[in-house]
Amino acid sequence: MLNKQKGNMYGFVTHTWNAIKGRCSHACEYCYMKPFWKSDIHLDEKELKTDLGEGNFIFIGSSTDMFARSIPEEWIRKVLFKCIEHPKNEYLFQTKNPLRFKKVKSWYPNKSIFGTTLETNRENNLNNAPIRSGRVEGMLEIPSEMKMVTIEPIMDFDLNLFVKMIKDINPKWVNIGADSKGHNLPEPSAEKIKELIKELEKFTKVNLKGNLKRIYPK
Ligand code: SF4
Repeated sequence: MLNKQKGNMYGFVTHTWNAIKGRCSHACEYCYMKPFWKSDIHLDEKELKTDLGEGNFIFIGSSTDMFARSIPEEWIRKVLFKCIEHPKNEYLFQTKNPLRFKKVKSWYPNKSIFGTTLETNRENNLNNAPIRSGRVEGMLEIPSEMKMVTIEPIMDFDLNLFVKMIKDINPKWVNIGADSKGHNLPEPSAEKIKELIKELEKFTKVNLKGNLKRIYPK
């Protein structure tokens, strides 16, 4: 079913829709969805009958990474074809494996935004997702006006290297958010976040999510 946007979601998203459901193979330690996964990853065929309406901005696959390597291409095709049936909506696709965006690029609806998550420039062992340089590579060919980067949950970073990474992607905008659930992540200081925002605003728009306030009170 089509779910109305709530909680710590992007302000521009009106709804979420999840036809691919279950345990995400990226297994991020800080994932807020973990307690909700009741099964292994699967395509819920019943969802394909959902009326996606029109005039909505729908985050497709908000509950699990539907572009992870473990997802069969046929499932992705079915989800994207469903979106194409509702061309008066806008759609957000976000993944930590954006190299996969390319492989199915002929199946996207016209009004699509593509996003990837970069929590930091530094590698760590907090998930099984592709390394960050791979995420950058996967975003390069997408036109700037169609892409965003999300820094969430933000973790400590190397300013120059991190800014360069995001500049290489050249996104239309960047979202920044923090860990909402107390996972004891290595977080940057407010001063460092301020520096990051200042540098990013030289070439893109920056959108601060509500959960950033805990570590960056404005
Ligand atoms: S990629 Fe997203 S959905 Fe998958 S485990 Fe990480 S945070 Fe959760």
